[in-house]
Amino acid sequence: MIIKPKIRGFICTNAHPIGCAANVKQQISYVQAQGELHNAPKNVLVIGCSTGYGLASRITAAFAGGANTLGVCFEKPPSDRKTATAGWYNTAAFHQEAQAAGLYAQTLNGDAFGKEMKQEVIDTLKANMGKVDLVIYSLASPRRTDPETGEVYKSTLKPVGQAYKTKTYDTDKNLVHEIALEPANDDEIEQTIKVMGGEDWELWLNALADADLLADGCKTTAYTYVGKELTWPIYGQATIGRAKEDLDRAAAAIVKTKADKKVQAYVSSLKALVTQASSAIPVMPLYISLIYKVMKEEGTHQGCIEQIYDLFNEKLTQAQPVTDELGRLYMNAKETNDSTQAKITSLWDQVTQDNFHQLSDYAGYHHEFLKLFGFDIQGVDYEADVEPLVEW
Ligand code: NAD
Repeated sequence: MIIKPKIRGFICTNAHPIGCAANVKQQISYVQAQGELHNAPKNVLVIGCSTGYGLASRITAAFAGGANTLGVCFEKPPSDRKTATAGWYNTAAFHQEAQAAGLYAQTLNGDAFGKEMKQEVIDTLKANMGKVDLVIYSLASPRRTDPETGEVYKSTLKPVGQAYKTKTYDTDKNLVHEIALEPANDDEIEQTIKVMGGEDWELWLNALADADLLADGCKTTAYTYVGKELTWPIYGQATIGRAKEDLDRAAAAIVKTKADKKVQAYVSSLKALVTQASSAIPVMPLYISLIYKVMKEEGTHQGCIEQIYDLFNEKLTQAQPVTDELGRLYMNAKETNDSTQAKITSLWDQVTQDNFHQLSDYAGYHHEFLKLFGFDIQGVDYEADVEPLVEW
């Protein structure tokens, strides 16, 4: 099969197995070049392990820390006629590299929100890995089925309290335009909290504790994005922000209820960058194209793997990591500091359809977007006939 990107709206519906493998190898090489982590966790569970920040977390734990990793993801396998999702190919490549390096790795593919997957993880840990000393929670999902009631909750990306008019960039139509977003109602806010809030993170920790699979002093972290004025109306102070606030509640609850195990639970605040999840959020492609421009000029640009290596090196491997005033592990100061934000805001105010490609780094954004699916990677022959059926 000759595989070229099939882009529909903000998503690419296929993926390139060789390109995805090259992307995984690049991330592995990056962390290996940074040097081995000290006091690294040795048994790591990564929930949402196949793309974006979760994949970077798994790569860092394994290839900079030498950890055994158990991953959970929700990816589509390939067929004769259709490629797998990128996360499937990423996972296959991760397994191949882990095996070559003599690192234990296992991945379970299915719905992390359900009871069955929690049980499967428990059975796998008991059989093969034992207690975990780090649990990464990196799910991004538009819906969640409640494990008790079977009710399906859907998340919404809307402002809270009042309507909001802003600029956005339609990546499909190459168009900078204004959008008006109506505020969410109470039900939409509640449903978004059910999907992207801390309830499922807590359920995971409860299930692991009940099965006696948390090592003493085990750390756990869930990821959030804390932006500034430009993104607050659609992120921080919007439905998704409400859900992310619930992570703070969950972190405190986990610490309290798992005090006997001295579990440390943190919300980690990470930089905005291109992933499958963020490209679906209105305003984000425009905002991210501008921060790429500014942060590349400042020499502070980072991708998933660079952010996560720093998170492990500076925070997660420290006995008592330094937190911000809200108890979070704050990693995106290079994006949210006042001087950088002022430059981004100035560009934001100037951006029009005519100057968008000069003022922004949309070329960099688009390259990173294609790379998520294994495309536009140097050294990969996209004219070659490749086998889509890849297993792990
Ligand atoms: P992503 O879309 O790249 O990854 C999502 C992961 O979740 C994948 O591994 C996917 O397989 C898995 N997943 C989704 N639904 C699942 C389910 N039902 N069961 C099992 N696995 C499932 O997303 P990402 O951008 O890396 O986001 C990860 C976390 O980081 C999210 O909490 C997000 O809010 C946060 N974050 C993202 C950004 C950003 O700019 N991308 C910034 C800060 C924080």
